[in-house]
Amino acid sequence: MNSSEKPLEIFDQTHYDNTFYFCEKDHPFIAFTTVFCPCCLLHQSNATATAELEEAEQMYEDTLERLEELTIKAKNTAPEILV
Ligand SMILES: [Zn+2]
Repeated sequence: MNSSEKPLEIFDQTHYDNTFYFCEKDHPFIAFTTVFCPCCLLHQSNATATAELEEAEQMYEDTLERLEELTIKAKNTAPEILV
């Protein structure tokens, strides 16, 4: 540890008013004392990842379909190119 580092500032508990809040999606007690809800962030990340996965799956399906079409065309026109 660098001895020149300043110690972190300590939060004064007397500044906390004991109020608990729900976030906009009704996740209780998550967003207290902040405007940030990690639960909402997790949901958003999950939704993004799920959408990207579905897109990748569709691209994979399309690629397989295209490969099958090309293979059939090659088989019908120049089967020697298929090894
Ligand atoms: Zn939330």
